[in-house]
Amino acid sequence: MHYVSTRGAAPELDFADVLLAGLARDGGLYVPASWPTLPDGSLERFASMSYADVAVEVMWPFVEGSIDADVFADIVAAAYATFDAAEVVPLTDLGDGLWLAELFHGPTLAFKDVALQLVGRLFDHVLGQRGERVTIVGATSGDTGSAAIDACRDRAAIDIFVLHPHERVSEVQRRQMTTVLADNVHNLAVRGTFDDCQDLVKALFADTEFRDRRHLSAVNSINWARVMAQIVYYVTTAARLGAGGSRPVAFSVPTGNFGNVFAGYAAQRMGVPISQFVVASNRNDILTQFLTTGAMTIGEVHPTLSPSMDIQVSSNLERLLFELFGRDGTAVAELMSRFRAEGTVALEPDRLDLLSEHWTGTRVDDEGTTRTIRALHERTGLFVDPHTAVGLAAAEQSRRDADVPMVVLATAHPAKFPDAVEAATGVRPPLPTHLADLFDRPERYDVVDDDVAVVRDVIDDTLG
Ligand SMILES: *Cc1c(COP(=O)(O)O)cnc(C)c1O
Repeated sequence: MHYVSTRGAAPELDFADVLLAGLARDGGLYVPASWPTLPDGSLERFASMSYADVAVEVMWPFVEGSIDADVFADIVAAAYATFDAAEVVPLTDLGDGLWLAELFHGPTLAFKDVALQLVGRLFDHVLGQRGERVTIVGATSGDTGSAAIDACRDRAAIDIFVLHPHERVSEVQRRQMTTVLADNVHNLAVRGTFDDCQDLVKALFADTEFRDRRHLSAVNSINWARVMAQIVYYVTTAARLGAGGSRPVAFSVPTGNFGNVFAGYAAQRMGVPISQFVVASNRNDILTQFLTTGAMTIGEVHPTLSPSMDIQVSSNLERLLFELFGRDGTAVAELMSRFRAEGTVALEPDRLDLLSEHWTGTRVDDEGTTRTIRALHERTGLFVDPHTAVGLAAAEQSRRDADVPMVVLATAHPAKFPDAVEAATGVRPPLPTHLADLFDRPERYDVVDDDVAVVRDVIDDTLG
């Protein structure tokens, strides 16, 4: 498979180069040159196969030509062996055709593990083959950081720097990052928001001299390999719910950077019958605005109970825009530069119509989030974390067809956000045993200003 940039002015790359490159040199994001489709009968077959076996089949067209088939199968098996559920992504029936797909059974309790446990191993493999070393730089609103750190810790060919917004992530989230004392792991707390962290990472990548000298690489959600790994659970979930007989499925996706829900779009393009995507946002509702009006205006980031969704500019939306513009990279580049310059942009109504058929944007505020956590607990005894609750509330509000199963992606374990869950239910969900002593472990991190020169110097000083 070859990959092209959404801005149309970067060289085409193969999978291994896209994996290591992250952002394209023209500022765009890499996407496959064409969408592969699942052979007829795949969904029926997948319904009775293991997650890892389905994962190999679904992802193979995207990596073919870059990685040996046996090696790839071993890497996938090792990645999903770290999960504490045999199904990897178990489904829970909530009644009334509503389902939870539990994406939080990996080592750091959030859905980021599904992609990053694979991506860390792919990096290791490709770098090992090439005899190279990289410096991974990433921004996190909380969950990506710990998942990336867990996936990269102690890997010989990788140094990892993770920028998180100082005092804007939960204590569990911070400690899951800062208590990893491996020599190759470096945590920077930035005095700013997640968007500031993300802008710092973009600025580091835009500094070509620094980027080349340090072999910068990214594992945040702009990395195509992450999106690719996330396609798999849309496929396995749809297969289990009978989509093989062409019965459609709907998904409600708690959304921040749009990587997760874009993977759903990819699954749909590959032939999974998905009839509706509910893009669930918290008070930071730029995506709800966009999907309802076609216009996007950058606003201030408001802290909410679901911090991993406290994002105004969703990087992966560019991948969907690329498709909406008929894969015209020049048009996307023009739109994005206007958005950057003016802070606002609007789609023509006919382009918005292309979206309305399958896409719904729904906003859920903190009060609705808390009410949803409480109501589900009262009705079923189950806990959901605040991100999942946003998805669940949005699913209930915006479901179009009661006969179509609606799957809410449960993106974090409730114990990752114990304060919000306790405030809603009166009960504090316990951490799983492997993290029970998290609050006793020593932490290590540096607090830095929101200034690219400062961050660059910290990285240079650390690496020598
Ligand atoms: C990252 C994250 C999200 C948002 O996912 P995107 O792919 O950025 O849209 C939602 N919920 C949780 C718990 C997350 O960690």
